[in-house]
Amino acid sequence: MLELATPKDMRAWSRAERARGGRIGFVPTMGFLHEGHLRLVDRAKQRVDRVVLSIFVNPLQFGPREDFTTYPRDLARDTGLAAERGVDCLFVPDRTAMYPRDPLVRVAPGPMADTLEGAARPGHFAGVLTVVAKLFHIVEPDIAVFGRKDFQQAMLVRRMAADLDFGLEIDIAPTVRELDGLALSSRNTYLNGDERRSALGLSRALRAVEQAWRSGEADPKALERRGMEVLKGPGVTPEYLALVDEQLRPVTRVDARTVAVIAARVGATRLIDNVVLGEGVASDDSVRAS
Ligand code: AMP
Repeated sequence: MLELATPKDMRAWSRAERARGGRIGFVPTMGFLHEGHLRLVDRAKQRVDRVVLSIFVNPLQFGPREDFTTYPRDLARDTGLAAERGVDCLFVPDRTAMYPRDPLVRVAPGPMADTLEGAARPGHFAGVLTVVAKLFHIVEPDIAVFGRKDFQQAMLVRRMAADLDFGLEIDIAPTVRELDGLALSSRNTYLNGDERRSALGLSRALRAVEQAWRSGEADPKALERRGMEVLKGPGVTPEYLALVDEQLRPVTRVDARTVAVIAARVGATRLIDNVVLGEGVASDDSVRAS
Protein backbone atom coordinates (compact mmCIF):
# COMPACT_ATOMS: atom_id res chain seq x y z
CA MET A 1 0.00 0.00 0.00
CA LEU A 2 1.31 3.36 -1.05
CA GLU A 3 1.19 6.14 1.55
CA LEU A 4 1.01 9.75 0.40
CA ALA A 5 0.87 12.99 2.36
CA THR A 6 0.66 15.87 -0.10
CA PRO A 7 -2.09 16.90 -2.52
CA LYS A 8 0.54 17.17 -5.27
CA ASP A 9 1.73 13.56 -4.88
CA MET A 10 -1.84 12.31 -4.49
CA ARG A 11 -3.03 13.99 -7.68
CA ALA A 12 0.05 12.82 -9.63
CA TRP A 13 -0.54 9.19 -8.60
CA SER A 14 -4.22 9.36 -9.40
CA ARG A 15 -3.63 10.91 -12.81
CA ALA A 16 -0.99 8.30 -13.65
CA GLU A 17 -3.38 5.49 -12.72
CA ARG A 18 -6.15 7.01 -14.80
CA ALA A 19 -3.82 7.53 -17.74
CA ARG A 20 -3.23 3.77 -17.62
CA GLY A 21 -6.98 3.26 -17.85
CA GLY A 22 -7.53 2.50 -14.15
CA ARG A 23 -10.74 3.54 -12.46
CA ILE A 24 -10.33 5.08 -9.04
CA GLY A 25 -12.59 4.60 -6.03
CA PHE A 26 -12.32 6.91 -3.04
CA VAL A 27 -13.27 6.50 0.63
CA PRO A 28 -12.80 9.70 2.66
CA THR A 29 -12.60 9.23 6.44
CA MET A 30 -11.44 10.88 9.64
CA GLY A 31 -9.61 7.70 10.65
CA PHE A 32 -9.84 5.52 13.77
CA LEU A 33 -11.07 2.95 11.29
CA HIS A 34 -13.73 0.39 12.07
CA GLU A 35 -15.65 -2.19 10.08
CA GLY A 36 -18.06 0.51 8.81
CA HIS A 37 -15.21 2.28 7.04
CA LEU A 38 -13.70 -0.99 5.82
CA ARG A 39 -16.96 -2.12 4.21
CA LEU A 40 -16.84 1.07 2.16
CA VAL A 41 -13.43 -0.08 0.94
CA ASP A 42 -14.85 -3.53 0.04
CA ARG A 43 -17.65 -1.86 -1.87
CA ALA A 44 -15.28 0.40 -3.79
CA LYS A 45 -13.01 -2.55 -4.63
CA GLN A 46 -15.85 -4.34 -6.37
CA ARG A 47 -16.30 -1.46 -8.76
CA VAL A 48 -12.87 0.01 -9.53
CA ASP A 49 -9.22 -0.86 -10.17
CA ARG A 50 -7.64 1.23 -7.44
CA VAL A 51 -8.95 2.34 -4.04
CA VAL A 52 -7.77 5.47 -2.24
CA LEU A 53 -8.65 5.92 1.43
CA SER A 54 -7.99 9.29 3.03
CA ILE A 55 -7.61 10.06 6.72
CA PHE A 56 -7.98 13.67 7.71
CA VAL A 57 -9.62 15.07 10.83
CA ASN A 58 -10.99 18.21 9.26
CA PRO A 59 -10.89 21.17 11.66
CA LEU A 60 -13.33 23.13 9.49
CA GLN A 61 -16.26 20.86 10.33
CA PHE A 62 -15.91 21.01 14.13
CA GLY A 63 -17.59 23.74 16.19
CA PRO A 64 -15.56 25.62 18.83
CA ARG A 65 -17.01 23.49 21.64
CA GLU A 66 -16.79 20.18 19.78
CA ASP A 67 -14.29 17.34 20.00
CA PHE A 68 -11.67 18.24 17.37
CA THR A 69 -8.70 17.94 19.74
CA THR A 70 -9.96 14.80 21.49
CA TYR A 71 -11.26 13.02 18.36
CA PRO A 72 -9.70 9.51 18.48
CA ARG A 73 -6.63 9.02 16.32
CA ASP A 74 -4.42 5.94 15.75
CA LEU A 75 -2.59 6.17 12.47
CA ALA A 76 -0.42 3.07 12.99
CA ARG A 77 -3.48 0.88 13.56
CA ASP A 78 -5.39 2.51 10.70
CA THR A 79 -2.48 1.93 8.32
CA GLY A 80 -2.44 -1.79 9.16
CA LEU A 81 -6.21 -2.15 8.76
CA ALA A 82 -6.25 -0.29 5.43
CA ALA A 83 -3.38 -2.35 4.01
CA GLU A 84 -4.97 -5.60 5.17
CA ARG A 85 -8.25 -4.66 3.53
CA GLY A 86 -6.59 -4.00 0.17
CA VAL A 87 -6.47 -0.19 0.03
CA ASP A 88 -4.05 0.73 -2.77
CA CYS A 89 -3.23 4.23 -1.65
CA LEU A 90 -3.57 5.77 1.81
CA PHE A 91 -3.73 9.56 1.67
CA VAL A 92 -2.93 11.21 4.99
CA PRO A 93 -2.37 14.94 4.56
CA ASP A 94 -1.65 17.10 7.58
CA ARG A 95 -3.41 20.33 8.34
CA THR A 96 -0.91 22.56 6.51
CA ALA A 97 -1.01 20.35 3.44
CA MET A 98 -4.80 20.74 3.27
CA TYR A 99 -5.04 24.32 4.50
CA PRO A 100 -1.77 26.17 3.87
CA ARG A 101 -3.86 29.22 4.74
CA ASP A 102 -7.36 29.73 6.02
CA PRO A 103 -9.68 29.02 3.06
CA LEU A 104 -11.59 32.21 2.30
CA VAL A 105 -13.73 30.45 -0.31
CA ARG A 106 -15.95 27.70 1.04
CA VAL A 107 -18.85 25.61 -0.21
CA ALA A 108 -22.30 26.92 0.78
CA PRO A 109 -24.40 23.80 1.40
CA GLY A 110 -27.79 25.49 0.97
CA PRO A 111 -31.12 24.67 2.65
CA MET A 112 -30.53 20.92 3.01
CA ALA A 113 -27.99 21.84 5.69
CA ASP A 114 -30.32 24.09 7.66
CA THR A 115 -32.05 21.31 9.61
CA LEU A 116 -31.18 18.36 11.85
CA GLU A 117 -27.36 18.02 12.09
CA GLY A 118 -26.93 21.37 10.37
CA ALA A 119 -29.16 23.10 12.93
CA ALA A 120 -27.42 21.38 15.85
CA ARG A 121 -23.94 22.03 14.47
CA PRO A 122 -23.81 25.45 12.76
CA GLY A 123 -21.16 25.55 10.01
CA HIS A 124 -20.62 21.78 10.14
CA PHE A 125 -21.77 20.98 6.61
CA ALA A 126 -19.99 23.97 5.06
CA GLY A 127 -16.85 22.48 6.61
CA VAL A 128 -17.68 18.97 5.40
CA LEU A 129 -18.52 19.98 1.84
CA THR A 130 -15.47 22.24 1.60
CA VAL A 131 -13.08 19.45 2.58
CA VAL A 132 -14.91 16.88 0.45
CA ALA A 133 -14.74 19.23 -2.56
CA LYS A 134 -11.01 19.68 -1.98
CA LEU A 135 -10.47 15.93 -1.62
CA PHE A 136 -12.44 15.25 -4.80
CA HIS A 137 -10.24 17.73 -6.68
CA ILE A 138 -7.09 16.18 -5.24
CA VAL A 139 -7.99 12.51 -5.71
CA GLU A 140 -10.09 12.90 -8.89
CA PRO A 141 -11.97 9.64 -8.30
CA ASP A 142 -14.52 7.99 -10.60
CA ILE A 143 -16.58 6.83 -7.62
CA ALA A 144 -16.64 8.00 -4.01
CA VAL A 145 -18.26 5.82 -1.35
CA PHE A 146 -20.01 7.27 1.69
CA GLY A 147 -21.91 5.63 4.55
CA ARG A 148 -25.65 6.06 5.05
CA LYS A 149 -24.89 6.23 8.77
CA ASP A 150 -24.31 9.95 8.10
CA PHE A 151 -27.47 10.29 6.01
CA GLN A 152 -27.66 14.07 5.78
CA GLN A 153 -23.98 14.25 4.90
CA ALA A 154 -24.33 11.61 2.18
CA MET A 155 -27.33 13.41 0.65
CA LEU A 156 -25.51 16.76 0.73
CA VAL A 157 -22.38 15.31 -0.87
CA ARG A 158 -24.46 13.68 -3.58
CA ARG A 159 -26.28 16.93 -4.22
CA MET A 160 -23.04 18.94 -4.28
CA ALA A 161 -21.52 16.51 -6.79
CA ALA A 162 -24.59 16.83 -9.02
CA ASP A 163 -25.21 20.57 -8.62
CA LEU A 164 -21.55 21.52 -9.11
CA ASP A 165 -20.80 18.92 -11.84
CA PHE A 166 -18.02 17.03 -10.14
CA GLY A 167 -18.42 14.29 -12.72
CA LEU A 168 -18.16 11.40 -10.31
CA GLU A 169 -20.59 8.91 -8.84
CA ILE A 170 -21.51 9.06 -5.17
CA ASP A 171 -22.21 5.56 -3.92
CA ILE A 172 -23.97 5.21 -0.56
CA ALA A 173 -23.42 2.09 1.53
CA PRO A 174 -25.65 0.61 4.26
CA THR A 175 -24.90 1.28 7.91
CA VAL A 176 -22.75 -1.30 9.66
CA ARG A 177 -23.98 -2.17 13.15
CA GLU A 178 -22.85 -4.30 16.02
CA LEU A 179 -24.98 -7.40 16.58
CA ASP A 180 -27.04 -5.62 19.22
CA GLY A 181 -27.92 -2.84 16.78
CA LEU A 182 -25.51 -0.04 17.74
CA ALA A 183 -24.24 1.68 14.61
CA LEU A 184 -20.45 1.59 14.46
CA SER A 185 -18.83 4.99 14.98
CA SER A 186 -15.35 6.16 15.88
CA ARG A 187 -17.06 8.15 18.66
CA ASN A 188 -18.37 4.93 20.31
CA THR A 189 -14.93 4.73 21.89
CA TYR A 190 -15.99 7.62 24.18
CA LEU A 191 -18.75 5.47 25.76
CA ASN A 192 -18.27 3.73 29.10
CA GLY A 193 -20.14 0.49 29.93
CA ASP A 194 -23.38 2.13 31.12
CA GLU A 195 -23.34 4.59 28.26
CA ARG A 196 -22.76 1.79 25.76
CA ARG A 197 -26.00 0.19 27.03
CA SER A 198 -27.88 3.49 26.93
CA ALA A 199 -26.63 4.12 23.38
CA LEU A 200 -28.74 1.17 22.22
CA GLY A 201 -31.73 3.49 22.71
CA LEU A 202 -31.07 5.05 19.30
CA SER A 203 -31.31 1.86 17.22
CA ARG A 204 -34.16 0.60 19.42
CA ALA A 205 -36.11 3.78 18.79
CA LEU A 206 -35.56 3.45 15.04
CA ARG A 207 -36.74 -0.17 15.16
CA ALA A 208 -39.84 0.89 17.11
CA VAL A 209 -40.66 3.53 14.48
CA GLU A 210 -40.13 1.00 11.70
CA GLN A 211 -42.32 -1.60 13.43
CA ALA A 212 -45.10 0.90 14.14
CA TRP A 213 -45.03 1.92 10.48
CA ARG A 214 -45.15 -1.72 9.35
CA SER A 215 -48.12 -2.24 11.68
CA GLY A 216 -50.02 0.48 9.84
CA GLU A 217 -49.21 3.75 11.60
CA ALA A 218 -48.72 6.33 8.86
CA ASP A 219 -48.86 9.61 10.79
CA PRO A 220 -45.33 11.00 11.04
CA LYS A 221 -46.04 12.78 14.35
CA ALA A 222 -47.36 9.57 15.93
CA LEU A 223 -44.32 7.67 14.66
CA GLU A 224 -41.97 10.32 16.05
CA ARG A 225 -43.71 10.16 19.43
CA ARG A 226 -43.39 6.36 19.44
CA GLY A 227 -39.66 6.57 18.73
CA MET A 228 -39.12 9.24 21.39
CA GLU A 229 -40.84 7.05 24.02
CA VAL A 230 -38.35 4.27 23.30
CA LEU A 231 -35.36 6.59 23.05
CA LYS A 232 -35.93 8.18 26.46
CA GLY A 233 -33.99 6.32 29.09
CA PRO A 234 -31.39 6.81 31.78
CA GLY A 235 -28.41 8.80 30.55
CA VAL A 236 -29.96 9.63 27.17
CA THR A 237 -30.75 13.21 26.16
CA PRO A 238 -32.77 13.12 22.94
CA GLU A 239 -31.99 15.85 20.40
CA TYR A 240 -34.28 15.02 17.50
CA LEU A 241 -36.18 12.20 15.87
CA ALA A 242 -37.72 13.12 12.53
CA LEU A 243 -39.23 11.49 9.47
CA VAL A 244 -37.77 13.05 6.36
CA ASP A 245 -37.37 12.62 2.62
CA GLU A 246 -34.10 12.49 0.66
CA GLN A 247 -33.87 16.27 0.81
CA LEU A 248 -34.21 16.18 4.58
CA ARG A 249 -37.66 17.76 4.43
CA PRO A 250 -40.21 16.60 7.01
CA VAL A 251 -42.75 14.31 5.35
CA THR A 252 -46.51 14.60 5.69
CA ARG A 253 -47.08 11.12 4.22
CA VAL A 254 -44.82 8.28 5.30
CA ASP A 255 -43.80 5.69 2.70
CA ALA A 256 -41.14 3.03 2.24
CA ARG A 257 -38.55 5.63 1.18
CA THR A 258 -39.08 7.82 4.24
CA VAL A 259 -36.03 7.99 6.49
CA ALA A 260 -36.24 8.15 10.28
CA VAL A 261 -33.25 10.16 11.52
CA ILE A 262 -32.25 10.40 15.15
CA ALA A 263 -29.71 12.21 17.33
CA ALA A 264 -29.13 12.01 21.05
CA ARG A 265 -26.52 12.69 23.65
CA VAL A 266 -25.41 9.77 25.75
CA GLY A 267 -23.38 11.26 28.58
CA ALA A 268 -21.09 13.73 26.83
CA THR A 269 -21.17 11.85 23.51
CA ARG A 270 -23.40 12.93 20.66
CA LEU A 271 -24.61 10.02 18.52
CA ILE A 272 -26.66 9.86 15.30
CA ASP A 273 -28.36 7.04 13.42
CA ASN A 274 -31.11 6.54 10.83
CA VAL A 275 -33.18 3.94 9.02
CA VAL A 276 -34.93 3.87 5.67
CA LEU A 277 -38.37 2.58 6.72
CA GLY A 278 -38.89 0.25 3.76
CA GLU A 279 -35.48 -1.34 4.23
CA GLY A 280 -35.36 -1.52 8.00
CA VAL A 281 -32.55 -1.75 10.52
CA ALA A 282 -32.31 -5.48 9.83
CA SER A 283 -31.24 -4.84 6.24
CA ASP A 284 -28.09 -3.08 7.46
CA ASP A 285 -24.84 -4.99 7.74
CA SER A 286 -23.98 -6.46 11.12
CA VAL A 287 -20.68 -7.33 12.68
CA ARG A 288 -19.85 -9.01 15.96
CA ALA A 289 -19.26 -6.45 18.70
CA SER A 290 -15.55 -5.78 18.95
P1 AMP B 1 -15.95 9.36 9.46
O1 AMP B 1 -14.58 8.81 9.62
O2 AMP B 1 -16.80 9.23 10.67
O3 AMP B 1 -15.96 10.75 8.86
O4 AMP B 1 -16.68 8.44 8.38
C1 AMP B 1 -16.12 8.22 7.12
C2 AMP B 1 -17.13 7.52 6.25
O5 AMP B 1 -17.49 6.27 6.84
C3 AMP B 1 -18.42 8.32 6.07
O6 AMP B 1 -18.89 8.17 4.73
C4 AMP B 1 -19.33 7.65 7.05
O7 AMP B 1 -20.70 7.77 6.73
C5 AMP B 1 -18.89 6.20 6.94
N1 AMP B 1 -19.29 5.44 8.13
C6 AMP B 1 -19.06 5.74 9.44
N2 AMP B 1 -19.63 4.84 10.26
C7 AMP B 1 -20.28 3.96 9.45
C8 AMP B 1 -21.08 2.79 9.70
N3 AMP B 1 -21.35 2.36 10.91
N4 AMP B 1 -21.58 2.14 8.62
C9 AMP B 1 -21.33 2.58 7.35
N5 AMP B 1 -20.58 3.65 7.07
C10 AMP B 1 -20.06 4.34 8.09
